[in-house]
Amino acid sequence: MEEMKFTKDVRVRIAPSPTGFLHIGLARAALFNYLFAKKNNGKFILRIEDTDLERSKSEFGKDIIEQLEWLGLEWDEGPFKQSERISIYAKYLDKLLKEKKAYHCFCSKEELEAERQYQLSIGKAPCYSGKCRELSEDEVQKRLANGERSVIRFKTPSKKVVFRDLVRGKIEVDSSLLGDIAIAKNLTAPLYNFAVVIDDFDMNINYVIRGEDHISNTPKQILIQEALDIPQPKYAHLPLILGSDRAKLSKRHNAVSVADYRKQGYLPEAMINFMALLGWNPGTEKEIFSMDSLIKEFSIEKVQKGGAVFNLQRLDFINGFYIRQKPLDELAKLCLPYFIESKLIDEFSDGKYEILETRETVGFDYLVKTIGLYQERLKKLSEITELIDFFFKEKIDYDKDLLKWKDMSDTDLKIVLEKLEIILSGIELEEFNKENLEKILIIEADKTGNRGSLLWPLRVALSGKKASAGPFEIAEILGKEKVLQRIKHAQEF
Ligand code: GLU
Repeated sequence: MEEMKFTKDVRVRIAPSPTGFLHIGLARAALFNYLFAKKNNGKFILRIEDTDLERSKSEFGKDIIEQLEWLGLEWDEGPFKQSERISIYAKYLDKLLKEKKAYHCFCSKEELEAERQYQLSIGKAPCYSGKCRELSEDEVQKRLANGERSVIRFKTPSKKVVFRDLVRGKIEVDSSLLGDIAIAKNLTAPLYNFAVVIDDFDMNINYVIRGEDHISNTPKQILIQEALDIPQPKYAHLPLILGSDRAKLSKRHNAVSVADYRKQGYLPEAMINFMALLGWNPGTEKEIFSMDSLIKEFSIEKVQKGGAVFNLQRLDFINGFYIRQKPLDELAKLCLPYFIESKLIDEFSDGKYEILETRETVGFDYLVKTIGLYQERLKKLSEITELIDFFFKEKIDYDKDLLKWKDMSDTDLKIVLEKLEIILSGIELEEFNKENLEKILIIEADKTGNRGSLLWPLRVALSGKKASAGPFEIAEILGKEKVLQRIKHAQEF
């Protein structure tokens, strides 16, 4: 397919409502807008849609900004807040009312609900009947003066609304099914479909890239644009994000907010890489993309129509890749909060840390060393404490049978542990390093004809775990004294 040509001054936006923490769907939309803007030398604008005063909370607005920054999706303009732009909407509402393209509707909630139920009962798609359309000006003024509750409705013209979606192609909707849409509670309280049209126009947005859940709003917004005689942006609706059960991703599917993934220790570069593949397909098997390569390779033509399944294994795989790319020092810094939070260590002073259980102080290099053993296999940062807690414990707990290699008997195990004790206590302190330990123990292990029967009990005695890094690396970091203590502890079983 020929590459589409886009106007020179591409202007796109992301327009989150601060009614919840930034979720994956919106973050993905932000990313696609960002990539589209960067690719076309355009501008990316952030607008906070906080007209729903009851549901909007400043903590959510703060979270949205924080997470977008963390992801590296910096905006060129904004954040604009709809709540600070009320007078702009009022002007256009007034215009529509004066031109009789909108009207006050006094129907009560109960009336509307009864109407809806009736329509459903006769098998009709519910929409407003238009009852208040024909109220006389006098009556409207009288009822407004009386303080009667009303909303402002747009007189939806009956026609076929047709638009070309950049992802989904031609879309046709019969507007008579929409009914007259409520566009504001009053002159100073616009509703979503109206405010969005005014803002996109006022901010010169020419491409609206958003989730497919908004596709039913698009014809409404187009009709409002037509009534106000303002230009129509181009639309691209991104496929829904689905859980592994192929249902729309929702709170039922574990974590949905960006902050949740961040807390679990997914890296921003991994989140970006992963989210790019939620609905965009480079057309190759390639799975690893930096932001720069995404900017180069992204194209809206390659956005798929079908739902994008959120595959956690893929996210883990991608995150593991970026963890392995990290310089070890940096990785250790990223892991540090998890150690503190799980109360293995605490910050001491002068860049030292106190191991809470043993009261020892260690330097940052101790963290670097221990984490280094696990960089290859780590999938998310939060896993680290569980993998290496045994370096931060006085005594470790494990099931005694775990010490046994295959069908080893109690007596065999006892002999092996005694042997280990003798060999290890014979190694000089300054020779107690990985290379020496490996040399000496491998020779011993080979004598038995089966390395596992010596090295497995050693590894378990040191780590208490079924799977861990190798025994020589662990022994070097623990040091001779602790290694012998742990062998003794194993013998006590
Ligand atoms: N405020 C809407 C939302 O949070 C987005 C509106 C739009 O992109 O047009 O879902």
